Amino acid sequence: MKVAVYPGTFDPITLGHLDIIRRGAHLVDKLVIGVTTNPAKEPMFTVDERLAMVHREVAGMPGQIDVVAFDSLLMDFAESQGATAILRGLRAVADFEYEFQMAGMNQKLNDSIETVFLMADVSLQPIASKLVKEIARFGGSIDKFVTPAVAEDVRRHLRGGSR
Ligand code: ADP
Repeated sequence: MKVAVYPGTFDPITLGHLDIIRRGAHLVDKLVIGVTTNPAKEPMFTVDERLAMVHREVAGMPGQIDVVAFDSLLMDFAESQGATAILRGLRAVADFEYEFQMAGMNQKLNDSIETVFLMADVSLQPIASKLVKEIARFGGSIDKFVTPAVAEDVRRHLRGGSR
């Protein structure tokens, strides 16, 4: 059984992430979405909130898709999931340098797990969680970048309400 891990912060999950998940799930028998705690990024949503959001958004998608939180080294997490590949999305050239370095170092840590890059649909490539949050904070509409349920989660969070 071919298993791949798609790691990320998903703070919040966007239409870009969902497109990569849809494409990735076609390629493997099981796709494990790894939701990292990553406190360095000071996420808007807690890891439990992000897990719940990702679960809800991938429900009903074709293919076997698991959603798992992790706070360990990515390669250790991938190995524990029985994965032979790490899936990453590439947006613009700006992503390349960071991803190139990560993939290179991960290869040194575990040469039996390949990093595979996928491109989202061209129309979804500019979408980034960070900008979605910035737009929402300034009162702009994020409806073109996330699903209606996620847009509502972000708005509720900014209003200070509990989920
Ligand atoms: P990280 O904290 O690891 O950057 P993100 O949640 O920001 O996590 O992104 C997870 C992965 O999804 C990364 O590989 C990122 O490049 C990719 N990604 C995010 N948004 C898009 C998009 N719009 N198109 C393609 N890939 C994307």
